[in-house]
Amino acid sequence: MLSVTILGVSGSIGSSALQFLRLHRDTFTLKNIALRNDWRSALDIRAEFGCQAVGFEDSRAAEMFVRHAPNTRSRVLSGPEAASELASEPVDVVLAAISGSAGFPSVLAAIMAGNRIALANKESLVCGGAPLLELAASKGVPVIPVDSEHSAIFQCLLAGTRQEVVSLLLTASGGPFRTASIEQMRRATPEQALAHPNWRMGLKNTIDSATLANKGLELIEAAYLFGCDEGKIDVLINPTSVMHSAVCYRDGSMVAQLGRPDMRVAVGYGLSWPARLESGVEALSLSELGALAFETVDPDKFPSLGLARSALRAGGDGPLLFNAANEIAVKAFISGKLGLMRIPALIETCLERGAGRFTGGLPDVPVLCREALDFCRAELAGQS
Ligand code: MG
Repeated sequence: MLSVTILGVSGSIGSSALQFLRLHRDTFTLKNIALRNDWRSALDIRAEFGCQAVGFEDSRAAEMFVRHAPNTRSRVLSGPEAASELASEPVDVVLAAISGSAGFPSVLAAIMAGNRIALANKESLVCGGAPLLELAASKGVPVIPVDSEHSAIFQCLLAGTRQEVVSLLLTASGGPFRTASIEQMRRATPEQALAHPNWRMGLKNTIDSATLANKGLELIEAAYLFGCDEGKIDVLINPTSVMHSAVCYRDGSMVAQLGRPDMRVAVGYGLSWPARLESGVEALSLSELGALAFETVDPDKFPSLGLARSALRAGGDGPLLFNAANEIAVKAFISGKLGLMRIPALIETCLERGAGRFTGGLPDVPVLCREALDFCRAELAGQS
């Protein structure tokens, strides 16, 4: 049996993971779960999977959990360190699915403990950068990407050696505003931005997909994960989201991974790697699909992608600042305080004004993230 810890179990990746685990009860055991505050979901998951430990970020949620399961044999942890504590308990695989830079400490804790990671939290890699992967490599900890594009590239890289790779192709859906005008995007409401055409994802990821800041974060993630220069990572829109990404080799071959847009495939592979198990997702029907369409990204509508490239080229705290500014801007957009097109504008301002202020080693990253978020929040306040 392979033991699993899921960090961020109540989110959409967590839910895909639970569906996958239900198909493979004879292969996996769900040992630990961590979540923010959804104690009702935690009760259900514990009852179904019999987890040994449950960690809540919110201590009131932990109290509610214990009150409703007074005889639970599960250990209950609470507070901001709960996810990291569970991440460092020895298991076969930790699924890191907490959203945003808040996921960094638990990813670091899992690596320090030598736990293999199925990485769904792209922001932790964007903030930790290459040193995070170097640490993982030095500890012999495999980091298996769960982001669908990176899972695709990871799989396509099995077709050749790194020396044979010429470039990576990261695909994007284009999100809900692919065919909208800039004017329509300026007036876009959170409801419109949350209507993603293909993928069902969490709140932040969905807004990020509407601005393509998500693709910017993924570009940075891919550069680190696969040791590839920004200039060798192309981004192309595939509106149906069936081609999840591709790798171009020096002999002219392009190796792509295709499938239905359903996260159970990438989550399942992240958990079961190097094996492939049934995910519950049907194979793609190419005859039903008929055609594969592609479009280039309009840089005027989606400036976030170019800003991510600049942040990556600048190096240092560029990626961390890009992420912090985006997190602050997305929150402001969701609460109706900022227009959609002002998200990239805030990222640009913060990159210009904040560069070089947030540098340090890996252990400093959580503090640097907090300081960068404060800085970006102040920049936003200064604008309005
Ligand atoms: Mg993705």
